[in-house]
Amino acid sequence: MRIGVALLAGALLLTAAGCGDGDESRARAAGREAVRSGEPPRETRRAEPQPPPPRRIDCGLADCVSLTFDDGPGEHTERLLDILKAAGVRATFFVLGQMVEEHPEIVRRMVLEGHEVANHSWSHKDLTGLSAAGVRSQIRRTQQAVKKAAGVEPTLMRPPYGATDEKVARAAGMPQILWSVDTLDWRHRDADRGARVGIGEPGRGGIVLYHDIHKPTVDCIPRVIKGLKKRGFTLVTVGELFQDVRLEPGEIYTEREGDAELLTASPPPPGSPAGPPEPSGRDTAPRAR
Ligand SMILES: [Zn+2]
Repeated sequence: MRIGVALLAGALLLTAAGCGDGDESRARAAGREAVRSGEPPRETRRAEPQPPPPRRIDCGLADCVSLTFDDGPGEHTERLLDILKAAGVRATFFVLGQMVEEHPEIVRRMVLEGHEVANHSWSHKDLTGLSAAGVRSQIRRTQQAVKKAAGVEPTLMRPPYGATDEKVARAAGMPQILWSVDTLDWRHRDADRGARVGIGEPGRGGIVLYHDIHKPTVDCIPRVIKGLKKRGFTLVTVGELFQDVRLEPGEIYTEREGDAELLTASPPPPGSPAGPPEPSGRDTAPRAR
């Protein structure tokens, strides 16, 4: 704001100073000076860009699907971010700590553009083969790298290869997000196939597994977005998918389950003092998944 005022003052000065070259250059210098002196100190001027506010999407009502991208950030990730931005779609990135360290600016961009950044371990080891301390280290180092890069700490993790057990669950201490659709993009490296599977297979509440480190995967995403939207799906981050669901540390989630189950799983019984009002009619009928 102050810079704007200073520029305006400079411009007025320029106008008032007339047309002589000397006058003009003096006026320009004065304008520059005004801008310079109008600058607040560096610390206060460097306002941190903020992520967009969270969206309120009720995936209990809307048909939601989450696109998830693992193993990056890598050389194709920025192009993917461009694609998502152009389409107004938010996704979830399960990042590797060691890649975050290499490309912190890409992780920062993910956060600033409303995507969710989640933990996929430091170096993609099979966590079931590590000690509890080893698992904790893989998770903690990645948390720290993301925090350093983008100022946020992931709340969700995905074990590499989907390999997990009790020890991993306990040591990681975060909800474990797997998937309902494995596109096998890493194996086929085929954009047409990636699009076909990504459009055709997800159901309501589905979580789709892709890898943004493969070019054909990024190539297919514009088609996937278009196709899923055409099928009536709202594309959301995993956090948005489960916005109204309490995710438990160590539990495994592969999709948003049928809402009848979620509503009856943990809240106090209807009619009890803390519970919802007594059910009436069709609202309580179980819904198809
Ligand atoms: Zn992976």
